[in-house]
Amino acid sequence: MTGVTLRLNTDRWRAHQQRVAQSAPGLVPVAKGNGYGFGLRRLAEEAQLLGADTLAVGLPGEVAAVRDVFAGDIVILNPWRPDDPGAAELARDPRVITTVSRLEDLEILANLSGSRPDGTTTPLPRVLIEAQTSMLRHGIPTSDLEGVEALAAYVAIEGWTIHLPIPTDGEDNLEEAARLALACQSARPGPLWLSHLPAERIGALTGRLPEPVSVRLRIGTRLWLGEPDCLETTATVLDVHRVRRGDRAGYRQRRIPSNGWLVIVSGGTAHGIGMEAPTSATTVRQRAIALASGGLEAAGHALGPYTLDGKKRWFLEPPHMQSSMVLLPEGATPPEVGDEVPVELRLTTALVDQVVDAPPA
Ligand SMILES: *Cc1c(COP(=O)(O)O)cnc(C)c1O
Repeated sequence: MTGVTLRLNTDRWRAHQQRVAQSAPGLVPVAKGNGYGFGLRRLAEEAQLLGADTLAVGLPGEVAAVRDVFAGDIVILNPWRPDDPGAAELARDPRVITTVSRLEDLEILANLSGSRPDGTTTPLPRVLIEAQTSMLRHGIPTSDLEGVEALAAYVAIEGWTIHLPIPTDGEDNLEEAARLALACQSARPGPLWLSHLPAERIGALTGRLPEPVSVRLRIGTRLWLGEPDCLETTATVLDVHRVRRGDRAGYRQRRIPSNGWLVIVSGGTAHGIGMEAPTSATTVRQRAIALASGGLEAAGHALGPYTLDGKKRWFLEPPHMQSSMVLLPEGATPPEVGDEVPVELRLTTALVDQVVDAPPA
């Protein structure tokens, strides 16, 4: 193996997905951005296997990556805007559901439907109407929801979308969900598409509405990354150099702080490595201790995500685009070229070179 690898215990991963699907009726899997480390196409295949009837992507440009492997409907989460010609085309696609977060955009979409000059008719754009939540990201304010009804005949309204903030410890977003759901239902009855409401709260939510309503839960992180034990990420050792204290190395020709080895490992900024704050010595107190003891951190080194001989090790210098230079002090056992070593990746920002369906060793 070369580069950075994501290994999957596929059976366990799929069993976890099935558990999430059973606990969240009407599940809409979310596959967007870097595909949560797996890639959009792979997630579309998984959603298909899982039996989902709808898959969510983030952007209009992501539809193409999933539409050939996923057979059902595709909802675009980012709200539609009139300045994107690709999105206007997709709004006419019978398999695509467009999210609309402003009345003026709904009006433009309403005008897309109907007869064309060549005599053919365009199917009504399928839309979800987004209500504004306390996130204040996108959405029609509660006071304007009434305006939707006037345009409802010219689009196919699939429901309402409510994107809640993630509940923090001890807090609950049910109150807000219920208040907004009521406002939406009184403007126009229709299914509710929710994000970040715990599945076990759905009953409490629908119980507070005057009429029965179907609920769809959009889930990404918990579905794909909720069982970390079935995932393992590794990097490949590309080179190992014996070094002495005071030697210089790297782009910046920094001094090697102690005798040992300089290990060159695959993975760099292009893989999303080194894009987080250093994981050690982050508090003021810890920094003071590091300075006082003259540790590597005091000299401007950062702890890297690679585990070599059982421990996280320090970067010599910031990661390069596709490889990193890591210090291994004397006393440790150096790896060999070609060895795979564990690397900690945040999979929502990582780009791996390959996903391998083989259980972690
Ligand atoms: C990204 C996104 C989700 C999925 O969020 P996770 O935290 O990954 O489950 C759900 N809803 C909307 C509107 C999103 O943009």
